[in-house]
Amino acid sequence: MHRWKYFCNTMVSTAIKTEIITIGDELLLGQTIDTNSAWIGKKLGEHGFTINYKSTISDKESDILSAISLAQTRSEIVLITGGLGPTKDDITKHTLCKYFNCGYRTDELVIRHLEAIFAQRGKQLLETNLIQAELPAVCETLFNRAGTAPGMWFENEQGIVVSMPGVPNEVYTITEESLLPRLTQKYSLPKVLHKSLVTVMIAESLLSKRLEPYESNLPKGISLAYLPTFNTVKLRLTRTDASITESLFDTSFNNLLQELGSDVFCLNDQDPAQAISKYLLSKGITFSTAESCTGGYIANKLMQEPGISAIFPGSLVAYANEVKVRELGVKEEDLIANGAVSDSVASAMARGICEKFNVKLGISTTGIAGPSGGTDEKPVGLVFIGVCYNGEIIVKKHRMIGNREQFTHRTANAAFALIKQILQVEVLP
Ligand code: ATP
Repeated sequence: MHRWKYFCNTMVSTAIKTEIITIGDELLLGQTIDTNSAWIGKKLGEHGFTINYKSTISDKESDILSAISLAQTRSEIVLITGGLGPTKDDITKHTLCKYFNCGYRTDELVIRHLEAIFAQRGKQLLETNLIQAELPAVCETLFNRAGTAPGMWFENEQGIVVSMPGVPNEVYTITEESLLPRLTQKYSLPKVLHKSLVTVMIAESLLSKRLEPYESNLPKGISLAYLPTFNTVKLRLTRTDASITESLFDTSFNNLLQELGSDVFCLNDQDPAQAISKYLLSKGITFSTAESCTGGYIANKLMQEPGISAIFPGSLVAYANEVKVRELGVKEEDLIANGAVSDSVASAMARGICEKFNVKLGISTTGIAGPSGGTDEKPVGLVFIGVCYNGEIIVKKHRMIGNREQFTHRTANAAFALIKQILQVEVLP
């Protein structure tokens, strides 16, 4: 959910309206998730362009023609991805020739690039591959270092139309290396200012209630967005009006930080796991996890940070009770008396993993991910998370909502919140 609390008309009236069209039957059928438009929207938004429409259409000539034609009536820039391969169903290029009423030209630079790519791969360059160098006569080539189909830049009296291949990595490369440099040279847009912070384990509704006075004092031209996912809420402050000075914007962000105090988990657009692992690395705090219901997910999240091996010797997925007993020293009497999903077992697991791997920080999880296995006393979603740091242990009980995947994500974030608590860090950088 993304809610703008204020919206500034100045920005809208001077905005460069930009529209994204993604082409592909596989996108319509849900076989491929359209990540291109999300990525392009974010990237261009960061550069001050206003994304006013996005659409996904089939690989059908008539649909492509009408989508481009409609887009050009309402947007100055139209960005298209997909359908540029050499196969029969890739018809975007032919359709663009039709739309711009032109024939083909051969791009010698693209031929050289294709030859180099195929030589590097040790593969023979076929006639069908050379089709990639046949481009609509009126377009300019946007070099694609990452693949064989170049991007194409068209201009007519209505504006700019750019076509790129569908492969996400190629979209990123063309956009960053060829498209954005051209667009930012053509349009001088006010610098977009964003600042974000992340909270963990505080409901969005509670946050917004608490921030009501702050929001009503926010200067017009600065907006606050709430972006919640799995027990985290990213709060993003954006300057939507160029007349707001950078120092006023910074002051507003600092006020937000002050308002929330140590309820701010970390700064910037960071994943909580990333903030934790960076912090542990910076302090040289060794850690390990003993995971039952999260199956190693917490370890996986924390080991994404480069260089983590310096503080992370290993982890244990302790699903079965006998593994909890044999590997972590959980007492059988404890399991019998309290059950595996209990405060005392989470505590023993966190202590056990510290001893087993000789680390300073141990993290444990034990819970019922569902959909079956719950009882009245211990329902689906119940989880105990333990952290042990330098001998001190904290265990927290939660009831997570959602399916197994949501349970896992939410439990991991709750564990990160507990780590921050036991380390007594005010706000993670
Ligand atoms: P190719 O040369 O591979 O044929 P193309 O320009 O024809 O490239 P597509 O055939 O449309 O592009 O897609 C290539 C790959 O990129 C496919 O795996 C497709 O599912 C994926 N893809 C296409 N559009 C998108 C999108 N909007 N978001 C994410 N992935 C996409």
